[in-house]
Amino acid sequence: MFKKVLVANRGEVAVRVIRACREIGIPTVAVYSEADADSLHVSLATEAYCIGPAESAKSYLNIPSIISTALISGADAIHPGYGFMSERADFADICEQHGIKFIGPTGDAIRKMGDKAQARATMQDKDIPITPGMGIVDDINKAKKFCKKVGYPVIVKATAGGGGKGMRIVNQESELEENIILCKTEAQKFFGNPAVYIEKYLVNPRHIEVQILADKFGNVVYLGERDCSIQRRHQKLVEEAPSPAVSEKVREKLGRTAVKAAKAVKYEGVGTVEFLLDKNNNFYFMEMNTRLQVEHGITEMISNVDIVREQINIAAGKSISVSQRDIELRGHAIECRINAEDPDRNFLPAAGQINGYVAPGGFGVRVDSHVYSGYTIPPYYDSLISKVMCWAPTREQARRRMYRALKEYVITGVKTTLPFYQDLIEDPVFSQGKFDTGFLEDYNNRKAQNKPE
Ligand code: ADP
Repeated sequence: MFKKVLVANRGEVAVRVIRACREIGIPTVAVYSEADADSLHVSLATEAYCIGPAESAKSYLNIPSIISTALISGADAIHPGYGFMSERADFADICEQHGIKFIGPTGDAIRKMGDKAQARATMQDKDIPITPGMGIVDDINKAKKFCKKVGYPVIVKATAGGGGKGMRIVNQESELEENIILCKTEAQKFFGNPAVYIEKYLVNPRHIEVQILADKFGNVVYLGERDCSIQRRHQKLVEEAPSPAVSEKVREKLGRTAVKAAKAVKYEGVGTVEFLLDKNNNFYFMEMNTRLQVEHGITEMISNVDIVREQINIAAGKSISVSQRDIELRGHAIECRINAEDPDRNFLPAAGQINGYVAPGGFGVRVDSHVYSGYTIPPYYDSLISKVMCWAPTREQARRRMYRALKEYVITGVKTTLPFYQDLIEDPVFSQGKFDTGFLEDYNNRKAQNKPE
């Protein structure tokens, strides 16, 4: 096992990884920016080092600082969490060159899956269904011809895209060229790579993703699916496991396909294969996230598998502790991502000091967070402050438990998305589980119509 693990991240995910290390018995090294000295991950780790100023580029994305901290502190492994360095193939390579184990897949696997156009081509080679698409756009006439053939709407995507950025939906040919140019500019700005490709845009599918674990001995298992269809601007708001729309038969098919996708790139570690599911139960590979995902906790609740512990063990060269046959999914879990944002002002990020904080608890409730009473949320990073996850034997019980937990949760001093979720969880369409990626638009329209004059 590792002697010491450096956690190259902040916020709730840094706390999550430190907790797993403590349970295994591995000392941890936290790194933090000048703005994060008071964050919970700093006090929970065995050691902590400031690695730079608030700006991410100079701290959490500063490779020389992170690597030298690992070497000086004697850490023999780095856990990247999600975001920041987690999908940087160059970082995985640099760790390896310095004799530090990157807790994640190889740089090569990250590269193969990180480029969305290349990942699609790899999947197509293995007969895994993908939405109809054309490769990198280099000629507008070719693009026009393709779109005419598959029919509008289409979606232009940055090959290096992520986090809901670098995607543009196009409804008709007259808008195509302009959107390609805009998407390229965005792709260059956010991801340093202007390449874009086009695929058919499915109208209101479900976003279904499969959690997989893969070890170096070639064992790959799936832990069922998560439904992440409730999104705002292509970013997930609520996730649940299992999906209310997936039958046992489709689950098995999705799981087997996800395993095949992982095997196609000789994947090692934990990962998520994302699909779009249409109304006729056809599903299409969208992308693979080669890291731990924000919403992994709900899968832990229904599968009883500690995904971060497995991830660390796999990186240390051990085999997965469960076989496909042992995995039994039980009950239902829902997650709400609580952000420091003002839902009444178009989800404007709201930094500042939390002056009152009481987290919910009780049977089946899990809250993963790095905040506490008196904590000041810095304005520099993602606005996620906590994840509330509720488990119960049935979906309806989990939903009611979530409502109860959200009503109990007290966060004062800053605006949060709590009131937004309290409403959403009680929505009749959500309650019935009959939603797709068009849910939020429909929900907002229904709310606007019912508003008293
Ligand atoms: P990111 O990597 O930024 O998360 P994804 O490729 O995972 O982007 O897509 C995010 C979301 O965008 C999906 O969950 C879905 O709602 C929507 N989306 C992406 N591609 C399509 C498509 N071809 N048809 C319909 N919706 C899509």
